[in-house]
Amino acid sequence: MNAYDAERIGELLEAEGMVAEGIEGADVVVLNTCHIREKAAEKVYSDIGRLRARDGGAPRIVVAGCVAQAEGAEVLRRAPAVDVVVGPQAYHRLPELLKGHRMVDTDMPVVPKFDALPTRRRSVGTNAFLTVQEGCDKFCTFCVVPYTRGGEVSRPVGAVLAEARALADAGARELTLLGQNVNAYHGDEDGGGTLDLAGLIRRVAQVPGIARIRYTTSHPRDMTQALIDAHREVPQLMPYLHLPVQAGSDPLLRRMNRAHTRDSYMAQIADIQHQVPGIAISGDFIVGFPGETDADFDATLSLVREVGYAQAYSFKYSPRPGTPAATMAGQVPEDVKDARLAELQRVIGEGAIAFNRASVGKTCDVLFERAGRRPGQLIGKSPWLQSVFVSDASLKIGDIAQVELVDAQPNSLEGRLVTLAQAA
Ligand code: SAH
Ligand code: SF4
Repeated sequence: MNAYDAERIGELLEAEGMVAEGIEGADVVVLNTCHIREKAAEKVYSDIGRLRARDGGAPRIVVAGCVAQAEGAEVLRRAPAVDVVVGPQAYHRLPELLKGHRMVDTDMPVVPKFDALPTRRRSVGTNAFLTVQEGCDKFCTFCVVPYTRGGEVSRPVGAVLAEARALADAGARELTLLGQNVNAYHGDEDGGGTLDLAGLIRRVAQVPGIARIRYTTSHPRDMTQALIDAHREVPQLMPYLHLPVQAGSDPLLRRMNRAHTRDSYMAQIADIQHQVPGIAISGDFIVGFPGETDADFDATLSLVREVGYAQAYSFKYSPRPGTPAATMAGQVPEDVKDARLAELQRVIGEGAIAFNRASVGKTCDVLFERAGRRPGQLIGKSPWLQSVFVSDASLKIGDIAQVELVDAQPNSLEGRLVTLAQAA
């Protein structure tokens, strides 16, 4: 979502007559920040230090994003070189804010920022992000998102479709619909009523030029039969589901306030795998949540093995100021977190290799996104989000081709062109 926001900030400033020419000689630098874990949040201060020391004078520095939201004026105190602090729901006011100095805007305005952003999208690659929902009302005890992005808000259907068309015009062939809880989407329709994510996907599938649709991130509590049906019935919707579970032990899930159990999650996964055979599942995991025992951690490992994830993201628990878990008893020592993370990533990696190996011999569509390292080689994505390398002089970026998967590496597959399916 930060990548999406950064694009929009760029477009907004370009509409004001500014030109983006790289960071070197820039008069203004916008740091779009993340507050989800401490490491991400601290990065901004080292970046500010580097910019201040830049040859030829420091640029005006804007701190945008969730660190800006969480720390507000504190950013100005801690980093005097910063000129503007603007939160993730207020960045459409950046042109106004840049007229002043030492400005802070962390409002969460009632009229959403999207209405104030340019409707034309600048040129994008074959894949583009499109934010359809923002914020979260779930309050997992470890997470800052409900505080930094605010409550759950869905964009109206018409606005999403207009942006999908603008992105198709700008070159996108694949759209990833974004939301912190994207499957909680419930957007207003022009003529009254609302659409859920499944309904929205069916509409986006009708946008000319959009060949593939993905969405992320979903919450187990908001998985609906309608969305599973969409996976079976909408050919553009890719067979891939990112459904974070965070941990495999019920006492931990309860303390995380996840509102699902291990069994409810496993049953959901089994049901989805049954209804949509071959769908790739991915997830997010946290190790070292307060009070996590060896037995809790083993439960996470066994869940990973049982689900058979195509891939998964894993993180060491990072206490975030103001969240309930930050002050819970039983904070786990750093060396234990390190060891558990390494072990979990090893098990996730085994699963990913197994998933890739099981794909060898299949023929599937690949959307080509960029040039590979070798001459004549292109890299694209399989429907299951695997990177696929193909060397064939007749292919170009943006093509969708039928490819036979012939060899698997841990993080990619090699493919052989069968036939061009849809030219760029
Ligand atoms: N809304 C999504 C994900 C939001 S944040 C969901 O509910 O799953 C993305 C991921 O960051 C989370 O899934 C979680 O695994 C991780 N995360 C969030 N807060 C964290 C923290 N304090 N420490 C470590 N990882 C965290
Ligand atoms: Fe954070 Fe996701 Fe939980 Fe919301 S549902 S609080 S975004 S982890």
